[in-house]
Amino acid sequence: MNVREPAPGVLHFEEDYRVYCTLVRGQDAAILWDTGQGRLDLKDWMDARVTTPYRVMNSHGHADHIGGNRRFDRVYAPRPDWPLLEAYSNLTDRRPPAYDILPLEAGQVYDLGGLTARVVDLTGHTAGSLGLLLEERRLLLAGDGLNPTLLLLGQEAAPLSFLRRTLEEVRALPFDEYLSSHSPRPIPKAMVDVHLAHLDCLRLEAPSHPGPYGPRVCRSQYKAAGLRSVLWIDRRLDDRENAL
Ligand SMILES: [Zn+2]
Repeated sequence: MNVREPAPGVLHFEEDYRVYCTLVRGQDAAILWDTGQGRLDLKDWMDARVTTPYRVMNSHGHADHIGGNRRFDRVYAPRPDWPLLEAYSNLTDRRPPAYDILPLEAGQVYDLGGLTARVVDLTGHTAGSLGLLLEERRLLLAGDGLNPTLLLLGQEAAPLSFLRRTLEEVRALPFDEYLSSHSPRPIPKAMVDVHLAHLDCLRLEAPSHPGPYGPRVCRSQYKAAGLRSVLWIDRRLDDRENAL
């Protein structure tokens, strides 16, 4: 398994092909951030590595971040994305989730012992997307909320104006790098500025043929500072005129 330790107490590991989860360990408690596709028995994996109590959290409700939830008794997840967790359980197990879902909300702070984890808002990719700021490490766990290729697709995504507000708020947070759920290595905070600059000069092009995400979804690309921002956006979510 591809496991990296980008900061002390932080293990970023590949649960399935290009799907990453993160284990954060303090002296007194730990957090498992996302449960991947569910291919790996993460309960066993955790039991082998964690001797303290721990919480399991979902950055958002997409299937490749919640697949292993069923291995645990309770999972903390953003409330706006709970319908996604319930729909996934119905699809895979033909029944409601067999675990308790508890609310994960921006502003919650977890003292893990020598390591403080603060839940922050990353609304955009989904209406409920959250991040976990590891304050002493100046590292943000961002799920899919800040991916260099950022997807705003489907009913669960938030309009573009919400994404702008999120990026502006994230820029003010005290961190240097962030971990994405689909990249092995930390990404520099400067990527947030590139995304914001991209929103100022968005050129949404209709896909040639039906694009990978269907005919309503447009793509825009922007490069600066050696970084590339790509946005795939459902046209339904382009509310820029209303936001002015
Ligand atoms: Zn996602």
